[in-house]
Amino acid sequence: ATPTALLVGTGRGAQLGILIKGPEVLESTRRVDTVVLDKTGTVTTGRMSVVAVHLADGVDEAQVLRLAGAVEDASEHPIAAAVARAARERTGDLPAVEDFTNVEGLGVQGVVDGHAVLVGRAALLEQWSQPLPPELVAAKAAEEERGRTAIAVAWDGAARAVLAVADTVKPTSARAIAQLRGLGLTPVLLTGDNAAVARSVAAEVGIDAGPDTVIAEVLPADKVDVITRLQSRGKVVAMIGDGVNDAAALAQADLGLAMGTGTDAAIQAGDLTLVRGDLLAAVDAIRLARRTLATIK
Ligand code: ADP
Ligand code: MG
Repeated sequence: ATPTALLVGTGRGAQLGILIKGPEVLESTRRVDTVVLDKTGTVTTGRMSVVAVHLADGVDEAQVLRLAGAVEDASEHPIAAAVARAARERTGDLPAVEDFTNVEGLGVQGVVDGHAVLVGRAALLEQWSQPLPPELVAAKAAEEERGRTAIAVAWDGAARAVLAVADTVKPTSARAIAQLRGLGLTPVLLTGDNAAVARSVAAEVGIDAGPDTVIAEVLPADKVDVITRLQSRGKVVAMIGDGVNDAAALAQADLGLAMGTGTDAAIQAGDLTLVRGDLLAAVDAIRLARRTLATIK
């Protein structure tokens, strides 16, 4: 039989905006010592906007936005929404895309107005032997230095532009991470985004810079391996995420916390849902688990 205290704990969780899949979840919550946080949509709002456009020689900005925007319009990634919105604001209705492909963790590709277009990480363009020219490599580095995500755009065999996309840290993230530390937990940032952006967000929210605590450029399929590696070192791991790309890691973690503002895949994979998508609720969940179990012991 489930001790009454656990049921009371689950009910109290609901009042705090924490949906708990079953009373037994509180036990794993109590033992956690490491908290892995996805960046985009979890630590940050995930509401991105295009804040700068850098062009290769002779390239027209409106055409960059029109072609990139048309391909991104077929994707549901937060970066894609930002690019499509910027394109509509600048050029109006977007043309149709054919042969669209979403290359998970890297970007998108498709054919627009007869041009074969690539939009995403520089690594995606390199796969197609369309590397950034030196002036765009410099623009990308400068934007990443400022903590922005640089998105490369290429078509018909050549890289043409770098778009700078900015996301903002949620107002409560730094406070929640300080409180997690106060509970004796080690916060770790995990992202598919590049290392410079990851370090800048980590610094803003108070996560230690270092190879064990800021883990960047991780492809969606590899996020789960990061969790397994920590567990093999004896860590009891909580993972907090929002995306389809976080679902396997949420399932593998000793405790999976899904942002209620995130995807259904993440919510289904998690043990707990933070209804408002606020990291302070993760702190409440751990405090609640400790208090509830202390009552039983
Ligand atoms: P995170 O782990 O932070 O949630 P993702 O794994 O979703 O990030 O994406 C990793 C990186 O891949 C992004 O930072 C971006 O550079 C690139 N990327 C992914 N999807 C897209 C897209 N639709 N358009 C442009 N870039 C993309
Ligand atoms: Mg995410």
